[in-house]
Amino acid sequence: MNELKDTSLFREHGLINGEWRGAAAGRTIEVFNPATQEALGTVPDMDGNDTRTAIEAAENAFPSWRKKTHAERAALLEAWHDLMIDNLEDLALILTSEQGKPLAEARGEIRYGASFVKWFSEEARRIGGTTIPSPTADRRIVVLKEPVGVSAIITPWNFPNAMITRKVGPALAAGCTVVIKPSDLTPYSALALAVLAERAGIPKGVINIVTGMPAKIGDELLTNQTVRKISFTGSTRVGSLLMRGASDSIKRLSLELGGNAPFIVFDDADLDLAVEGAIASKFRNGGQTCVCANRILVQSGVYDAFAEKLSARVSTLKVGRGTDAGVDIGPMINRAAIEKINRHVEDALAKGARIISTPPALPDGDQYTAPIVLGDATTDMQLASEETFGPVAPLFRFGKEEEAIRIANATPFGLAAYFYTESLKRSWRVGEALEFGMIGLNTGAISTEVAPFGGVKQSGLGREGAQCGIEEYLEMKSFHIGGL
Ligand code: ADP
Repeated sequence: MNELKDTSLFREHGLINGEWRGAAAGRTIEVFNPATQEALGTVPDMDGNDTRTAIEAAENAFPSWRKKTHAERAALLEAWHDLMIDNLEDLALILTSEQGKPLAEARGEIRYGASFVKWFSEEARRIGGTTIPSPTADRRIVVLKEPVGVSAIITPWNFPNAMITRKVGPALAAGCTVVIKPSDLTPYSALALAVLAERAGIPKGVINIVTGMPAKIGDELLTNQTVRKISFTGSTRVGSLLMRGASDSIKRLSLELGGNAPFIVFDDADLDLAVEGAIASKFRNGGQTCVCANRILVQSGVYDAFAEKLSARVSTLKVGRGTDAGVDIGPMINRAAIEKINRHVEDALAKGARIISTPPALPDGDQYTAPIVLGDATTDMQLASEETFGPVAPLFRFGKEEEAIRIANATPFGLAAYFYTESLKRSWRVGEALEFGMIGLNTGAISTEVAPFGGVKQSGLGREGAQCGIEEYLEMKSFHIGGL
């Protein structure tokens, strides 16, 4: 990481109680650049004992952190936000080096990530309570909002920066202290954020980071009674495992899990707008986001025209290293991701789909895959029921509006859905019929700190961002005052 302007942002240690440390047992794991498969460095492979020490640090820091005024916490969060913006180029380079996405997207993620810290620094001042008219004259009832306590933050590799700030922003604003377990594939973005938090003056022990493989860290986070809250973004499989594990000590849970987003183009859609929306929603981060369009449903009247326009546009996408200029799609995160994409495409081709775009040239390397449009996709294909998490855009043809809604909802997931129509009546009808936590009408962009982000069904519990996002880290206390 010699290219960084400030090389001290690159840390190869975990952070516990303000100390940058290795694992007590001395073990490390390597972290690789997905563009080259070269090792970027190592991080400690921490275990249950290290995790317990981190939880104790968060517990010890909690009383004084929660006692700070909201304005004091807001000022510290604002300072942290400003340092993220000041160090945007370095944070983006660290992100691209460990995750692979094009630098322009990495810069976008740093801005997006920072926006949650800013937003919740503002919301910190507005944590109010309520007063409730008492049923008897000699009593008063008030409801106080209090921080939940030590919170475990478990985050994935696809947004190594923003998934952390989206949780830690509201947690700290509410007065909670945290133990973060970043993905073992992308720990350096998390560690760089912690360097900046230290510089911003956030006290030691408020933010702790344990690095390494998930099993032992996860077990301790789940079984330790001091941890009162788990906030997780990742797969439904692990989310369900965490929910089970958290049940023994009845921890609060926020879960942002998998999706299987439909993207519906109706006959009366603005096709150019729909193509741009499909590119944004399907190909951002190489298709590796939980809100990426997974199934593109196109009404028969515009199917051919849309297929042609989308294919022409996808054929121009450039694949390469995220640090190279003009690259649209970087490497996939690992070989397993490539294998899943290949499995989906082979299955679809065997069942009658066709590649209708011209796949671009690929650079040397094992982890690149071509963005493609698949025509004639059908609901019996694997890619209809599983998230592909790659740059494959399958087009499904449908006839009537009801058919599109039925297909769209025929999934256990309910995170994001998109649809394109110019009809006001259809907009409301379809928007209300889709069983998803987030809907994009005539837009492929739905992520912003000001709106609730989250899913229904097996896509999760709770919401991040927006005014409600801070409630995930607050408890209500009913305070009954009698004998007046
Ligand atoms: P993905 O790899 O698709 O992002 P995962 O659900 O596998 O999704 O991983 C998301 C995060 O959850 C990562 O930080 C991973 O290390 C962590 N994780 C995986 N298994 C466990 C577990 N048993 N306990 C705690 N965290 C886990």
